[in-house]
Amino acid sequence: TVALKDVTKVFHDGTVAVDNVNLDVDDGEFMVLLGPSGCGKSTVLRMVAGLEDPSSGAILLDGELANDLPPRDRRIAMVFQDFALYPHMTVNDNIAFPLRLSGVEPASRGERVADVASALGIGDVLGRKPSQLSGGQRQRVAMGRAIVRRPGLFLMDEPLSNLDSGLRAELRAEISGLVRELNVSTIYVTHDQAEALTMADRVAIMRKGVLQDVGTPTQVYGRPATLYVAAFLGSPR
Ligand code: ATP
Ligand code: MG
Repeated sequence: TVALKDVTKVFHDGTVAVDNVNLDVDDGEFMVLLGPSGCGKSTVLRMVAGLEDPSSGAILLDGELANDLPPRDRRIAMVFQDFALYPHMTVNDNIAFPLRLSGVEPASRGERVADVASALGIGDVLGRKPSQLSGGQRQRVAMGRAIVRRPGLFLMDEPLSNLDSGLRAELRAEISGLVRELNVSTIYVTHDQAEALTMADRVAIMRKGVLQDVGTPTQVYGRPATLYVAAFLGSPR
């Protein structure tokens, strides 16, 4: 589980990026953090990952205060929009890289890479270099590399925003299917309403650093907490 308690982030120039946010993510839950550009979504993720310190408030991972825990001790995997694969390595070696770093034996590395690759439908391109892949395949490799260490929490920041709309739809279904299969808690950031409503167990909607509403897609769409949420989701009146 993840819990943010009264979390605020004020940057040095005075920008209040995140304003007193309270949010819980349950075990195995797919939480989508939705809101317009600049509302503070990435800052929330970066604080959960430990890449940014909260100005005030607490971040709890599995019930333990994590504010002072370094990123590498958080059992978190993160995928960004501009995921970077190692161009000189094969798909296999890209996915195996985190396992190599953490000292997993070569034999079990191969097995785990094969499992993840087959779940992502890239089992037949393990010998290729990233330059020999399509955009969707590259994104799958980036996801494979992120999840191969079996994280306790999966953070994704607009992972599909560089892809065309057909591929986005395909990968949406794939990502939510895969994450549910692995039963790993996920926070998925997007500014795309349709993406949020189709993928989420629950959606958290932000505006200017403030959390406006949290609920299942049916709840936030059907009974939006504020006029802003209603307008942003295009809820019927
Ligand atoms: P987008 O959808 O465009 O990625 P976002 O919701 O992820 O936006 P954030 O990147 O979290 O938004 O930024 C929230 C606010 O904090 C913005 O006003 C941004 O300009 C500001 N901000 C982000 N990083 C810094 C920083 N290092 N210093 C000062 N202000 C920052
Ligand atoms: Mg962002």
